[in-house]
Amino acid sequence: MIPKIRKMSITFQLMFMYTLLFIITTLILDIGIFVFTKMYLYNKADENMQVAEKTVSELLRVGDTTDRYSKFYANDNIYLRVYDEEENRVYASQGFIYSIDFNSDDLSFHQLSTEDHTLRTQVFRIRSQDGENYFLQIVKDMYSEDDFLRLLLLAMSGMYLVGIIFSLALGYAFSRRIIQPISDITKAAENISSKNLEERIEVNGSGDEIQHLSVTFNKMIDRLQEAFTKQTQFISFASHELRTPLAVIHGYINLLDRWGKQDEKILQESIDAIKTEADNMEKLTERLLFLARMDRGEDVLKKKQCYLDKLILESIEDARLIDEDHIYIWGGRSEVKVEVDPGMTKQLLRIFLDNARKFTPVKGYISISCWGTEDGVKMMIRDTGIGIPEEEINNIFDRFYTVDQSREKDSSGSGLGLPMAEIIVTLHGGTIQVRSEVGVGSEFTVWFPDHEKIERKKQEQFLLNHENGLID
Ligand code: ADP
Repeated sequence: MIPKIRKMSITFQLMFMYTLLFIITTLILDIGIFVFTKMYLYNKADENMQVAEKTVSELLRVGDTTDRYSKFYANDNIYLRVYDEEENRVYASQGFIYSIDFNSDDLSFHQLSTEDHTLRTQVFRIRSQDGENYFLQIVKDMYSEDDFLRLLLLAMSGMYLVGIIFSLALGYAFSRRIIQPISDITKAAENISSKNLEERIEVNGSGDEIQHLSVTFNKMIDRLQEAFTKQTQFISFASHELRTPLAVIHGYINLLDRWGKQDEKILQESIDAIKTEADNMEKLTERLLFLARMDRGEDVLKKKQCYLDKLILESIEDARLIDEDHIYIWGGRSEVKVEVDPGMTKQLLRIFLDNARKFTPVKGYISISCWGTEDGVKMMIRDTGIGIPEEEINNIFDRFYTVDQSREKDSSGSGLGLPMAEIIVTLHGGTIQVRSEVGVGSEFTVWFPDHEKIERKKQEQFLLNHENGLID
């Protein structure tokens, strides 16, 4: 039975639960009412018998033998017979039709059942005024009480059946109302696919768990849609970015094929161009792979204590090797200790230096410095390049965002450098600040936190507050 119920839809399960609850509670209530009413009626009957015994005893004591008694108790269905000491019946009230034996030795209370009557009877000993002993046999016919109880039972059973039908119907209606939003969620979920991420569940304003579920579900789809859009954008940008160098390489190969084999000049020019484009492609694929790995949450940092000034000086050396057009200036402190991933930090420096080189005219200055602060370490890369328009500063960290390709001296820009830089810095728990002015230059300041220093500062602050009585 239970496994069968489990297989039913939740609507039916809830409906049966409601009905079961109704059946159990009303059954307890009905049994209680019935038992209580029966007890009440039977007690009342017994009380009436006692009152009758007292009244009739009084009447007999004063020698009243008229049938006045029957008039009093006719409605209560109480009947009596009087016997003398020799067990001769001296009186029987009107309507005493019961064939009940009389035994003067048995003065206890009895309940007898005839075909459809319940009789409660007892014999009492009484003494008349002239000192004679009599026996009073009182019989209470429970016919009307039993009739009432039968009617009550019938009415309750009828109501009970109606109640069960009602609770099934209401239970079904309520369950459907509760389950409907879940069915809507299921339908919406079924309709959602990679081609249709627009679908959302209608959120009702009930403030209940279902509303919470709908909101959570919609938020989840929002996130999925955002991630999916980003991924599709990423793929289309990436293929677009790779198509340009591939087209250039293809062009030069065609050129070589047609004229270049014998022409030294064309040959050299083509080789140089193909080399540059291959380098660009390599750099681009490296960056794409890095971003994809970061998106998957891979590549945890391999941090260690190192000197930031050393890493910067090495990067300047590398830059000077490939770029003789700019003047690189080192102006930082020495032995600036920092806990970073050295490989990633050098990649970060390469991104800033690459940009500085690309956007700074020949003979322009590129200066780099680093120093310790009270809560970490800062490094600054400053150039005297073309600068970034103020309204663009917020966008330059977006993937594939390039301010204006025509500003670049070469076509190597893919808009992935700064997003990568941001990821690297964020992974270290740091921040990047940008200041730039068109025609004057740009300045990128990176802050790496030093947790030991931050902790020490907190403790000092705590002690200071304590001394000043700011905290207990
Ligand atoms: P890219 O690989 O194209 O340089 P980035 O993400 O590194 O991409 O930079 C995004 C955009 O920010 C660049 O296209 C450029 O317009 C601007 N930018 C970055 N650094 C500088 C800089 N030092 N001077 C001027 N513009 C810059």
